[in-house]
Amino acid sequence: MVGAGPTGVELAGAFAELIRHVIRKDYPMLDVAQAVIMLVEASAHVLPPFHDSLRQSAVRQLESLGVEVRLNTMLDLVEGQTVRFKDGTEFQSCTVVWSAGVRGANLGDALGVKLAKQSRVPITPSLNLAEYPEVFVIGDMAYLEGYKGNQAHPMVAQVAIQMGKTAANNILAYSRRHTLKAFRYNDKGSMATIGRRSAVFDAYGVRLTGMPAWFSWMGAHLLFLIGFRNRLIVMANWIYNYFTYDRGIRLIDREKQ
Ligand SMILES: Cc1cc2nc3c(=O)[nH]c(=O)nc-3n(C[C@H](O)[C@H](O)[C@H](O)COP(=O)(O)OP(=O)(O)OC[C@H]3O[C@@H](n4cnc5c(N)ncnc54)[C@H](O)[C@@H]3O)c2cc1C
Repeated sequence: MVGAGPTGVELAGAFAELIRHVIRKDYPMLDVAQAVIMLVEASAHVLPPFHDSLRQSAVRQLESLGVEVRLNTMLDLVEGQTVRFKDGTEFQSCTVVWSAGVRGANLGDALGVKLAKQSRVPITPSLNLAEYPEVFVIGDMAYLEGYKGNQAHPMVAQVAIQMGKTAANNILAYSRRHTLKAFRYNDKGSMATIGRRSAVFDAYGVRLTGMPAWFSWMGAHLLFLIGFRNRLIVMANWIYNYFTYDRGIRLIDREKQ
């Protein structure tokens, strides 16, 4: 796994549990003890948006699942099954997963404005372009500083949802020649699940790790689902999966002869 943001951390934990609990059972002919899951991160920390105590806890939780965490390690190239790092070391791997971030959609290139990092489109606080005020850009494509000082707003769902609401109001205001409102992000916090009874949670001024974080993660997700029926179905699925380590549908391939 290349990149130890929330996606990489969650994926590494999920792979560790998949191998330990599911693949071991479905493919008894494989020696799963040989499987190595390495989470590689260019910076000195996992989970950049989180508090340092949570980052350290995340590393401990990953290591207890058997994930090898390599910090300060930048990927150089992947060639066949060879993974090479900038420090010259190499590693053989059949599977490389990129979890080090995404870039804005290609549509941004067509706007003819100078793009910011990750090909994101620089916008004004009212979410439109300085050069073309009738054009609004929101979500992952938008590059707007002002988050935690002068950082760009993160590419997460809450930013996209909240920008959507502000942009809708501002488009109406623009068409009526009213003054546009500046976007204000209400940061509800961050959380990442690492495995069974294992997570980090930082929201509403509360920082949790391990089992309490895991339960809070589930509670928050259930709360944001629409409708009681959906909540009930999701909870029933989670309970079923928790006790059975199983899913109804899966593809099992034969051993190559
Ligand atoms: C693996 C992964 C895990 C993530 N996990 C989380 C998480 O746990 N919590 C969280 O808050 N965020 C998470 N995110 C980030 C979150 O998904 C994004 O921030 C959010 O989806 C941004 O919403 P958006 O509407 O800006 O973009 P998107 O959701 O990407 O929607 C843009 C849509 O536009 C379409 N599109 C692109 N170009 C064109 C075109 N030319 N014409 C028409 N349509 C086009 C795309 O196909 C896409 O459907 C995750 C992202 C990834 C990749």
